[in-house]
This record gives sequence, C-alpha cells and structure tokens, in this order.
Amino acid sequence: MDNSFLDTPVEFLKGVGPERAKLLKSELSITTFGDLLRWYPYRYVDRTRFYQTNEINADLPYVQLRGQILHAEIVGQKQGRRLVAHLTDAFGSVELVWFQGLKWLDGKYKPGKEYIVFGKPSVYNGRINIAHPEVEEVSEELLKRASALQPMYSSTEKTKMKGLDSKGILKLLKALVPQITGKIPEILPASLLEKYKLPGREEALREIHFPTDLKKLERAQKRIKFEEFLFIQIKLLRVRNLRQDNVQGHIFNRVGDMFNTFFEHHLPFPLTNAQKRVIREIRGDMGSGKQMNRLLQGDVGSGKTVVALMCMLLANDNGFQACLMAPTEILAQQHYITLTQLTGNMPVRIGLLTGSTKAAARRELHAALRAGEMHILVGTHALIEDEVQFANLGLVVIDEQHRFGVEQRSKLWRKNVHPPHILVMTATPIPRTLAMTLYGDLDTSVIDELPAGRKPIRTLHFYDSARERLFGFMREEIAKGRQVYVVYPLIQESEKMDYKDLEDGYESISRAFPLPDYRVSIVHGKMKPAAKDFEMQRFVKGDTQIMVATTVIEVGVNVPNASVMVIESAERFGLSQLHQLRGRVGRGAEQSWCILMSGPKLGKESKLRMDTMVRTNDGFEIAEVDLQLRGPGDLEGTRQSGTLGLRLADLTKDGPILQHARIAASEILEADPQLASPANQPLRDELQREHSDSVNWSRIS
Ligand code: ADP
Ligand code: MG
Repeated sequence: MDNSFLDTPVEFLKGVGPERAKLLKSELSITTFGDLLRWYPYRYVDRTRFYQTNEINADLPYVQLRGQILHAEIVGQKQGRRLVAHLTDAFGSVELVWFQGLKWLDGKYKPGKEYIVFGKPSVYNGRINIAHPEVEEVSEELLKRASALQPMYSSTEKTKMKGLDSKGILKLLKALVPQITGKIPEILPASLLEKYKLPGREEALREIHFPTDLKKLERAQKRIKFEEFLFIQIKLLRVRNLRQDNVQGHIFNRVGDMFNTFFEHHLPFPLTNAQKRVIREIRGDMGSGKQMNRLLQGDVGSGKTVVALMCMLLANDNGFQACLMAPTEILAQQHYITLTQLTGNMPVRIGLLTGSTKAAARRELHAALRAGEMHILVGTHALIEDEVQFANLGLVVIDEQHRFGVEQRSKLWRKNVHPPHILVMTATPIPRTLAMTLYGDLDTSVIDELPAGRKPIRTLHFYDSARERLFGFMREEIAKGRQVYVVYPLIQESEKMDYKDLEDGYESISRAFPLPDYRVSIVHGKMKPAAKDFEMQRFVKGDTQIMVATTVIEVGVNVPNASVMVIESAERFGLSQLHQLRGRVGRGAEQSWCILMSGPKLGKESKLRMDTMVRTNDGFEIAEVDLQLRGPGDLEGTRQSGTLGLRLADLTKDGPILQHARIAASEILEADPQLASPANQPLRDELQREHSDSVNWSRIS
C-alpha cells in the first residue's frame, strides 16, 4: 500500500512550516498529513439556511441571520458596559450584544448596509439576544460560504496564539483536502463497503471535512466510526482466538463428590434459572480443554457467590485448587464466612488470607497450599504475593473486578504452569457497548434474574429539611426489628471535612436514637481492622440497629436483616456507587428501602441521578444513564482505558455501528483467521501500521 502521501510530514503543507509543525506536534500530536486528515471536526455549523428574526429562541444552536444593523450604542457602566445593537429583517429584530472590544466595534456597523450575523441565541436580562456574534458584510464570497456546513476544529490555547484556532486549522485542511485525490489507499475490503453501504476512504475523508450535504456527511461519519470500531474488534477477537488456540486449559470434566454433595445436601435454596444457565456456561468452558476467560455480570444480590463456590468445588473435584479474590478485607472475610457456612461439614478446606493474617497463621496457610491440602483460598490482594504458591491452582475467581488492574490479574495467571481458568465477577453492570469494547476478548455470562421472593427495593428522595421524617421512618422500621445503614460520602480531596460530616452525623444520630433503646455502630476507613471488624460484627449479629459508615461498606457486605439504606449527601455519589450501596439492602424477604438525602439545590445532573435511582432498580439501565452522563472515560473500571483510541466514534451514541463492526470483525476472522487472503491484505497492513503497539498477546482480560 502506498502511504507516502499520508506519511508526508505536515511541515510540507502550505501554511505550516517548521515552527507550526512543532506546535502541531506538541499540542495536537499531528505530525503527518494523515494525522491532520484525522483531525476531524468536532461540530458543524449549519450555514445552509438563514433564520428569520421572529424564529429565534434560546434553545436554538448557532443560527445565521441576514439583515440591517440600524442602531448600535454603548450602554451601562463599568462591568455592565456593553455595546447593544439590533439586527432587523423583514420579520422583526434581534438584539446583539458585545462586552468586549467596544472601542473597536463602536461605529463599525453602518445603517443601510446588509450584514450576515452568526451566533448562539441566549437569554440575558429576560430578553433573547446573541452575544458576541460574528458579523460580516454581505458579499458574493460570503454568500457562497454561507450556504455550507462549516466544520469547527478543536485547538488549544497555544495553537490559538499562533493563529491555529478553528479557522486557522480549517485553512490548513482547505489546502490539504484538494490534494488527496487518488492518494488515499483503501483499508477496508470492498465486500465490506458494499455490505454496509459505506463510502470509500477518500470520499469519507473529503466529506468529513467539507460535506457536500448532510446525507453525505452522515455516510462519511458512519464509515469512519465503523472503521474505528472494526479495528478494535479485530484486535480483541484475535487476542481471544489466539489464546483459545494456543493456551491449554485444565480440563474439569468430572462432576464429583464435592459438587454433588453440595448440590444435593447443602444448597440452601433452589438456584434461579439464570444461575443454572451461567453454571452450565462456565462448566462448558472449563471442560473444553481451552482456558476460560469469562466475565460474569450480575446485579447486586443476584447470587454470584454461590455460583463461584460451585465452580470452585468443580475444580476441587478434578484435583485442582481454587481461589477467590476480593477487593477489600471486609469482603474477603464475608466471603470466607459465607463459603464456610455454605459448605458446612463437607470435607473441603477453606482458608482466608488477608493483609492482617498473622505471621504464624500465614506460614501454616502457605504450607497447606503448597502441600495441596487447602482446597479453596479466599483473600485480598495478599493472594497475589509471590510467597503464595499453590500445588495446583486451577481456577481463579475475581470478585468486583473493577478494583483490580490488569497487571494484578496477570500475576494470578502465572501461578501455575498452565494458567488457571479465570472468572471475573462484577456487580457493576457495564453497558453493552462498553462491555463489547473493554471486555471484547472475554466471554460473558449474565445473571439477569434475582432470586424469587425478593421485593423490589423502594427508593425515595428526601431533601435535608425532611430529616425529622427520616428519623421517624427509621424508628418505625427499627421497631419492626429491622436494621438501618446510614452512609456518608468520602471523597479524597476533602477528606477532613468528610470525616467531620461523618462524626457530626454519628453524633446527631446517637442523640436521636439514644441508649438504652437503640445502639449505633460506626465504621470508617481510618479505623484499625480489628476495631472495624468488631463494629461490623456487632451489626451483623444484630447487636446494633444502626450502622453509620463511609463507603467501606459499599462492596459485598451481606446483612439480610438490614432493610433501610440511608445515603447522606447522595448528590455527591455517582450513579453506579448509589446503585451498589442500595444493593446492600433488599437481601431478605422484607420490604426494603433506600432513602437518598440531598441538599436543597440540585444541579440538573444530580437531579437526573436522583430521579433515575427513584425510577428504576435495573442496574443495566442505570449503567446506561451513567454512561450518557459521564462518558465512557469516567465510568468505573474504564479510567485506565481512557478514550480507547476512538477519535470520532462515541460509545454512548454509536452502539448500533459498534454492533455491526463486531459482527463484521468476527465474520472476517472466522473466514480468514490470519487475515491471509488478498482481500484482507489491506486490513492486515493497517493493523500493523496503526495498531500493532496495542496488540498485546499477554493481556489476559
Ligand atoms: P451478589 O451477586 O451481589 O454477590 P450474593 O451472592 O451475595 O449476591 O447473594 C445475595 C443473597 O442472595 C445472599 O444472601 C444469598 O444467600 C442469596 N441467594 C443467592 N442465590 C439465591 C437463590 N437462588 N435463591 C434465594 N436466595 C439466594
Ligand atoms: Mg457479591
């Protein structure tokens, strides 16, 4: 493929030169013609029509008007000093206003001349106006430009200082785009373009910068987004295929005593259909001879723990050890207790290893693991330390995946000659588009059903002024024998203040719920593990009725009798965190409640978060709203992945294109796993050219 045009240093473009080339590189990472062509506009301004002044309202985006400026004067004092003018057409007039450059503007616009005005309508002092509009005298050239979709380019402060603002970059592209004819090699197979009705690469690049019309622009956008997704998907699927072909997996083909005994005599409830299905899927993987890498998604309370246990027993039945890794000490302990209770008197030896395991106990644990006498090890990060060696580790279960980095997971992978099967469990539902992109190399299972008999949690939103009502409600519930969580946010930047909030809250609750009728626990991250554990246990046993806590309780804690979750300053939490916290209740047969407390003034987004929580219990729906609100870069677990290298495609909006790209990628690889055919040659070349760095075969999940 001839990429010489795309690879030409941008310095050689008319209007650039060495100095600007340096700036483009350091500020925008643009070094070649190809990079500049991929500096796609972030928005287009519709100059294809003129609005009438009587159509203008503040909800409109940028508008273009045509008329005369009859009257302009400077009004106001000091900061309020401004130039006010009126643009008049046959239908009325609209106020234009400037706060800066008044001297220069004063007297600039002459009555009797016709102008084109361009800007964003807004409301100021109760009147609609356009602040700092672009104003130009009508001319032939302008009218020509004024009939197109105009691209807007992002830039930085530094580039702006050298004349490379949106307009400056537009100039560069105006010089570049006319030269591209015949010089842009196609990188998608022709069959694909035909099947998905996509324009060629050259056309797409031309239209994305200088659209002929809206239709053609949309086609160009679709093509470029498709291409971006396609390469990501091909990469992910190749990682998966390679692993499946080359990495041998332990074969768990026996369903033996452990699994059967547990199933017949110890399982305290019938499994839900979703749990059964997921266990079948996992067993299929683990019996296949290939190494399993599976993501198990299930909303809080959907019963992932018992699924994990049954899979671990299956490993034991086949002569392998298993481990379960949790993100916090409290959760590891809780898992340890749960697993020990569930297995009762079965001859399965379960150990617990955390940061606070004493040296002597630790030595004993290590020995038992190496001797193969320990069947299941539960723990925190402590599990991945090098001294922890297994006789024969066959399955690793990772709970609440988002707290572990890829690096940590790969350490576990190396704990046996053949890597163990990996099951990653997450209670943070991930929107489909994101899962497909972030975990596209993992197989996924979903528990999409809650155990029978659960009453959906009811969620209310109270303003702080309703605190007496809240306390009254808490008293009623406690009188029925229930327990209550009261959670305070803890945000690093203002830790001191947060702890003060927590302590004040604890005091006021202790006053409102005094001894001897009430007992209140408090747990936060600054307490010593032993003290934390003691307080936790008091609440778990029911010795205290109220648990005042920071988000340390967020993950996994299971107290079925707790039926009320009060979240203080709920507006300071993100949606997924609110949903996680809410999942701490609703685990018993009683009606459970989640009460969101917030300050009186809520921003639009905070209000939407509160409303979403009140409206739905569906974790996937909440994750979708979260994705829309925060964008993919900000979602739990995705921070490290940044923008995923997407320039134009947007995970929050382009789900359908992504799905097509995913299908196309798997069809291509199915027919031609090595991309060896001549038709796929351009794909292979492009993968090598642009994407080789990120194909990391050792990455496990
Ligand atoms: P999560 O998926 O959030 O980890 P858990 O595994 O902690 O959920 O399960 C939540 C609660 O539901 C636990 O008390 C567990 O014993 C119970 N549970 C799990 N599966 C079932 C089931 N099939 N029927 C009834 N209760 C169940
Ligand atoms: Mg759990």
